[in-house]
Amino acid sequence: MLRLGATYRWGKYVPFIASMERLRFYENGVILDYLCNSKVDLNKLHSRVFGLGNKTYEHYNKMAIYVDQRLEELGATRVFELGLGDDDANIEDDFITWKDRFWPAVCDFFGIEGGGEEVLMRQFRLLEQPNVQPDRVYTGEIARLHSLQNQRPPFDAKNPFLAPIIVNRELHKGGDRSCMHIELDITGSKMRYDAGDHVAMYPVNDTEIVEKLGKLCNADLDTVFSLINTDTDSSKKHPFPCPTTYRTALKHYLEITAIPRTHILKELAEYCTDEADKEVLRSMSSITPEGKEKYQSWIQDACRNIVHILEDIKSCRPPIDHICELLPRLQPRYYSISSSSKLYPNHVHVTAVLVQYKTPTGRINKGVATSFLKNKIPGQEDVRVPVFIRKSQFRLPTKPEIPVIMVGPGTGLAPFRGFIQERQHLRDEGKIVGETILYFGCRKKSEDFIYAEELEEYIKKGTLTMKTAFSRDQSEKIYVTHLIEKDADLIWNVIGENKGHFYICGDAKNMAVDVRNILVQILVTKGNMSETDAVQYLKKMEAQKRYSADVWS
Ligand SMILES: Cc1cc2nc3c(=O)[nH]c(=O)nc-3n(C[C@H](O)[C@H](O)[C@H](O)COP(=O)(O)OP(=O)(O)OC[C@H]3O[C@@H](n4cnc5c(N)ncnc54)[C@H](O)[C@@H]3O)c2cc1C
Repeated sequence: MLRLGATYRWGKYVPFIASMERLRFYENGVILDYLCNSKVDLNKLHSRVFGLGNKTYEHYNKMAIYVDQRLEELGATRVFELGLGDDDANIEDDFITWKDRFWPAVCDFFGIEGGGEEVLMRQFRLLEQPNVQPDRVYTGEIARLHSLQNQRPPFDAKNPFLAPIIVNRELHKGGDRSCMHIELDITGSKMRYDAGDHVAMYPVNDTEIVEKLGKLCNADLDTVFSLINTDTDSSKKHPFPCPTTYRTALKHYLEITAIPRTHILKELAEYCTDEADKEVLRSMSSITPEGKEKYQSWIQDACRNIVHILEDIKSCRPPIDHICELLPRLQPRYYSISSSSKLYPNHVHVTAVLVQYKTPTGRINKGVATSFLKNKIPGQEDVRVPVFIRKSQFRLPTKPEIPVIMVGPGTGLAPFRGFIQERQHLRDEGKIVGETILYFGCRKKSEDFIYAEELEEYIKKGTLTMKTAFSRDQSEKIYVTHLIEKDADLIWNVIGENKGHFYICGDAKNMAVDVRNILVQILVTKGNMSETDAVQYLKKMEAQKRYSADVWS
């Protein structure tokens, strides 16, 4: 099996991983380069390719499509059709549907008799370790034991810095949602950042939900244990740092509140004592139309996480160690830094909206990281959070006189707050700074217009031009996209005539697509381009880093 990792940008592939099981000496990109450039005869190779992509990206699964075609060109025999997974829809479903057709076809091709029933096998075995020395037990470290107690730079994804929260204040003035302005102190960490970078944060799961899950699995959460890979050749010995306690695993290492994928339901079914419960779980993990529909309505639409499933399917009582094997690793959450290091070299500002919503079953689901942050009130006991900085490509132009347009509704304003601080700083130093135009949008001026006073100050000082859309302040909805459409002359003047930079940031991927489409129309009407030329123009802007998007969903 060959696993290739790559990203496809500007019509060119950019390999970042290329590894072959048991042949780990291959350097990054070697295999992809080899495929692209060599004329090797692969007529003895049997190939099949499944690509993992996301349809919101322009070059959706382009690498997989390319590799599949290239293997055929080099003489390989395609044993089974190319499969494409779309993470914007249900990537697991795409894979399982493909895989279920793939195995019979492969058996047929090689003349092998199929094995019939699928056997579920554990990848990790449980080792309980009551006698292990307490100082050998992981307590939430990402890699090095005691790295949280004994902090040593350099700080990165494997060795996060415990940054105290020195400010945590509410930005909304009304309404029922919450947006936090948070300031992290990174003094002494030697971490550096630039406006536009991201800060990543390892959250901790809520104690209440951890205890609930422990109870539902009849577990003693203080048990010290290790999960050990049964494949002794695998480089991944444990699914998370071990030995540890179940409590630590559930709090620090596992994504408890995510909506479980279908393969988890399949495994859970085996622990139902009630046949009807077993059947429901099995059906939801199947690829039958009824099963898919049930999974969609009962799991996805109802936003049921593992705790909710065990609460509602009462005869299902899996052992906690298997739950620890099944749940995905708790991922760090990224935030666009909302400050400039020119002004705040030792502080990182974050602007985060609290995720909290009522589900159709009447439960309140809470976002892991934002709820964790909400409870970190400066002055209280431990207000430190494990963080590291991730460099980004989202950058102000190196020449300050170049004009910029920034589109950042809601928390999309975050990186632009850093940009504006930086442009102000440059002006204060006497530099000539080009026009700085911000398109900001929110629901109501009186409720969620974040950083309103600060922004007004920049306008007064002549640093900022701001255009605002308050969608719910009048009968008809107005969004930033409407403002951009109206400002076609201004936009063309900045990006066309003055070679300015254009930035989009926000939590709505549709917004980014809409803005891009409007830009194409502006280039057509104001720049007298054909639609094809306008698209090419934007691509060129992207390649020159004059058009950048920092969008999440
Ligand atoms: C590069 C990047 C930059 C980012 N910058 C920022 C930023 O500056 N500010 C910011 O606030 N966020 C930002 N985010 C998002 C941030 O990383 C987190 O995803 C967000 O804070 C939620 O994390 P959480 O752990 O609180 O929620 P999670 O526990 O991860 O839960 C979030 C999930 O809950 C579900 N969900 C949320 N609301 C609902 C609903 N109403 N109904 C049903 N399901 C729902 C969705 O599936 C969502 O994915 C950024 C993300 C990226 C990738």
